[in-house]
Amino acid sequence: MPESWRRFLVSTLLLLTGATLIGWYYGHADWGLLIAALAALAWHIRQLLIFDRALRIGDFEAFRYGEGIWSQMFARFSFLKQRSRRHKRAYRQLLREVRESTNAMPDGGIVLTSQFEIVLCNTAAQELLNLQQRQDRGQRIDNLVRDPLFIEYLKSGIPQAGVEIPSPARSGNWLLCRVVPYGGNQQLLLVRDITERRRLATMRREFVANASHELRSPLTVISGYLDTLAEDPDVPQAWRAPVAQMRSQAARMNNIVAELLELSRLEAPIGERVDQHVDVAALLASTRKAYAGKAKGPTLTVNCESRARIVGRLAEIESIVTNLLSNAMRHTPEDGSVTLTWRSGADGAELIVADTGEGIAEDHIPRLTERFFRVDSGRSRDDGGIGLGLAIVKHALERHDAKLEIHSQQGKGSTFICRFPPSRIVIDQPMPISAGTGASR
Ligand code: ADP
Repeated sequence: MPESWRRFLVSTLLLLTGATLIGWYYGHADWGLLIAALAALAWHIRQLLIFDRALRIGDFEAFRYGEGIWSQMFARFSFLKQRSRRHKRAYRQLLREVRESTNAMPDGGIVLTSQFEIVLCNTAAQELLNLQQRQDRGQRIDNLVRDPLFIEYLKSGIPQAGVEIPSPARSGNWLLCRVVPYGGNQQLLLVRDITERRRLATMRREFVANASHELRSPLTVISGYLDTLAEDPDVPQAWRAPVAQMRSQAARMNNIVAELLELSRLEAPIGERVDQHVDVAALLASTRKAYAGKAKGPTLTVNCESRARIVGRLAEIESIVTNLLSNAMRHTPEDGSVTLTWRSGADGAELIVADTGEGIAEDHIPRLTERFFRVDSGRSRDDGGIGLGLAIVKHALERHDAKLEIHSQQGKGSTFICRFPPSRIVIDQPMPISAGTGASR
């Protein structure tokens, strides 16, 4: 029991006992006890009234602290009140600092409810998206930012990558918008100005495209002369080997230039869409035929389980198949096998290239689609690879809203899965239940 309570109880007891004894001395012990109890009660009621008044006007300093247990209560209350005032001041200061630092950030940040209604936003977000903190609070962000890609992105269940949209505030500027889960069931929309990054990417793309384009003509001339020299019987025997080597290197350079041009074209923004219905089954059949004549290489099996067509561009789908298949064939030993599968379902369609070849170490997998990335640069160079094949595949897939998934185990083989969404698939013929057509060379 606290000391103050002990003292309070002892003094009350002493008062009542004393009064009872005095009453007893005068022959009325009960009167003595009653008068003392009433006096104690009156005193406590008075302290209670003072306390209530202090509470109502919120000022404990204006009153005397009372006495005994009441003085303790007044003091404790006063202390708690001061502490709460101090905390409030500290919180207000903290809030001011957080607000100032978020407002100083160059990136926009908007707190949204689970229904995408604006809770609060910083200054950068207001400038980048043309928002007004007071007026737009409570409004749905997709009612204020009307870009179709952005609306689609919000509906899509928030993939990590984010979406690039033209700035609604400044024409010619671009923004990267990304939603991340925040707090309990809120979300944080992060907005970054990526105008400069896009400008540099465009410059790089144009430089590569122009340089590759300019290299083409001299290369064609060099290759032409080398072809003529290779076929000329008057060329001395000692020159034959160097000429052959120069021809093969010129062919390799032609290949690199062609791949760079292809990549630049795929990276360029999609102009007017001229989509076709690409017959994948027919494409796989012709691929199978092309490989059937080859004397060397692993076994190729084509499983065409669907008649689904892809809404897109034939040349790009061809490029996807060719790059994945040539990689699989190059990285699989002669006694191994490569399987090409096309199948579709309610979730879309999949083009799968699986091999039983050398496989890829796990830490290399995330980097495979980078430009010029090769697992073993020496060996890749020897077999004609320059590390652009999978970058081309990735960009061609992106232009079809498709994704590339890579599974691989070193020494066991690799599987490359291209997933096309239902919006990119048309099935205009009844699907065979199972139409696996094994084919090999
Ligand atoms: P490259 O033109 O050099 O083949 P890619 O971009 O097509 O470049 O591939 C990048 C790297 O990924 C290659 O260097 C190769 O080592 C590895 N790779 C690609 N496909 C396979 C596969 N099916 N099996 C094993 N390694 C592969």
